[in-house]
Amino acid sequence: MIIIFMWGTGCKTNQVASRTAIDTTRTILPAPETSRQEALPQSKDSIPEWVSKPGAYNPSATRFSDLMHTRLKIRFDWGKQQAIGEAVLTLKPFFYPQNTAVLDAKGFNIQSVKLITGTTNKNLQYTYDNQKLTVKLDKTYTRNQEYKIQINYVANPNNLQVKGSAAITSDKGLYFINPLGKEPNKPRQIWTQGETEANSAWMPTIDSPNERMTQEIYLTVESQYTTLSNGLLVSSVKNADGTRTDYWKMDKPHAPYLAMLAVGEFAIVRDKWQNLEVNYYVEPAYKNTAKAVFGNTPEMMEFFSKKLGVDFPWQKYASIVVRDYVSGAMENTTASVFMESLQLTKRELLDTNWDFIIAHELFHQWFGDLVTMESWANLPLNESFANYSEYLWEEHKYGKASADALNLKELNGYLAEAETKQEPLIRYRYQDKEDMFDSHSYAKGGRVLHMLRNYVGDDAFFTALKNYLSKNQFTSVELAELRMAFEDVTGEDLNWFFDQWFLKPGHPDLKVEHTYQNGQIQISVIQQQDSLYTPVYRLPITVAVWNGKQKKEHDLIITKAKQTFTLPATDKPNLVLFDAKQQLLGKINHLKTDDELLYQFYNVNQYLAKYESISKLADKVNDPKILAMMRAALKDETPQIRSAALSALAKYTGSESSALFKDLQLIAKNDKKSIVRADAVTTIAALPNAAVSPVLDLLARQSSVKNLRNSE
Ligand SMILES: [Zn+2]
Repeated sequence: MIIIFMWGTGCKTNQVASRTAIDTTRTILPAPETSRQEALPQSKDSIPEWVSKPGAYNPSATRFSDLMHTRLKIRFDWGKQQAIGEAVLTLKPFFYPQNTAVLDAKGFNIQSVKLITGTTNKNLQYTYDNQKLTVKLDKTYTRNQEYKIQINYVANPNNLQVKGSAAITSDKGLYFINPLGKEPNKPRQIWTQGETEANSAWMPTIDSPNERMTQEIYLTVESQYTTLSNGLLVSSVKNADGTRTDYWKMDKPHAPYLAMLAVGEFAIVRDKWQNLEVNYYVEPAYKNTAKAVFGNTPEMMEFFSKKLGVDFPWQKYASIVVRDYVSGAMENTTASVFMESLQLTKRELLDTNWDFIIAHELFHQWFGDLVTMESWANLPLNESFANYSEYLWEEHKYGKASADALNLKELNGYLAEAETKQEPLIRYRYQDKEDMFDSHSYAKGGRVLHMLRNYVGDDAFFTALKNYLSKNQFTSVELAELRMAFEDVTGEDLNWFFDQWFLKPGHPDLKVEHTYQNGQIQISVIQQQDSLYTPVYRLPITVAVWNGKQKKEHDLIITKAKQTFTLPATDKPNLVLFDAKQQLLGKINHLKTDDELLYQFYNVNQYLAKYESISKLADKVNDPKILAMMRAALKDETPQIRSAALSALAKYTGSESSALFKDLQLIAKNDKKSIVRADAVTTIAALPNAAVSPVLDLLARQSSVKNLRNSE
């Protein structure tokens, strides 16, 4: 799933929660790491604000019964907002003999529960508490004995007590949009949202990510509606009462939370990858722009299949846009759902590119759907990968600098959240499983994978991922399985990496200083983060030393809270670039002179290095040398660098504004990127003595200056 993070608002909620937790639970913080707990300071003031109250341990669901297959016949009552269903579940004991089956079924009216015995079906005794259906079987079954239960029911999602969270605003599973057709300009739709455990609000199941089933869904709808579900559409039959029954079949097993259905008036825009159908379902009004939004999907399928060495694993891939969606998007197997922002007019398309969200849901088809986290505590095994796919796609399609700009934005997103909470990525002690859907699981996780890739190298990284996917396909996993995949490939014990990054909270906060004396550079590194709650990190780091045009790289391994390294150098260096691969998840405070920053801009052809120079020198833009650098940055090939320079130049108050004005005017008129053109207009307006009419003229020429998230 993807969530559109709003850093300001989201963090505020968390901040309140963690404060409350600290105030009330100082003395009863339970945790597995006793030494750390014993060391907890007793003064409430000395506990950092971001230390959250650990919840109880959340184990993976114990597998008593194994759901092998779901065969569901379902139709809808729009007026009552109900689903009328008949489910036949094929089950068997997971290992130990069982004489009961416990199913998740939320808010149902249960009409009957029967054992299918062939000719006559046998009524079974059951108890039901509105959440769990406990069925007493006719005998004790052993692990090789399958049995089938038929449940007839009516699902009432609107009668459920809706919980939801900041990330997923509701959990009632099945949604009727404009059910009575009373809202003008809004289509009537029905769609589902399973993650986390909400599909049991419309079908009886075992609603746990470590379950896995094949499925058949028969959807009966009024004839004007199109349907979508997982797998392939096998048949479509007209009924005597004027309705139609679509039969969708999913013959590869997936987790119940990935099941979906959607009903509505959709246009189907058809595309293809190899021999597979790739379809985009949108409201008919957006039929002509659907390909402009989703059209990179086949290229992404090709790119990810090649990169991972594992072909897209399912029978088809569909993307559907629905109204009033409760999150950003959801990676249901073979059928991802997207929020309505992905329906765009031609004009909106000029500024907007939703590749990141499309790549994210597509990558989940491998990481999440083919290989599934075994519990919500392991959510980063799904989301870190999907998040990192946004980087991989950006790097492939638009180049490394663009991808590194994304990397920085994601890092800053995590760091903003880390002001108010710091949690281990793999989090067994969450308070509420919905809390897992935060910037830790997404942005931090993605950056951790980026560091892992940098550490082991591309060949090892993608070989390990291929092995991990191949070995664990159609199963659920926990972190150790990922670690072992990397250890098997690299031959190195990687507990240190996985432990500090996945199992401990926080991030390094480094103070770096360098001096030069008598042919030696001394680099001192202090890990300033709170060592009571976060680890002292082991950090393999590359330092690049520049002398004239010569660059020499040194690989260091930081292992201590305070450490000094000595590097040979014949002359005083022009620049010492710490973390030259620019991959570290954390903060680096390395003081540099203006000359060093200028040198860095002109000599280090990397996004982060240039961005650092621009942002650190932005307040001195009246200095001629710095002004010249900013003007050079306006010609940079990376749009994010041009935009950064434009925002720095808005601070210019000097007298040379006419030459600068010409530069800016050219960009405002001709830059390839509409967002950069818009930034140029803003900068021109901010310049002293800016003539207003040329600015208005420029604005009028822009086909659009709207700036949506991730438009670059
Ligand atoms: Zn996701």
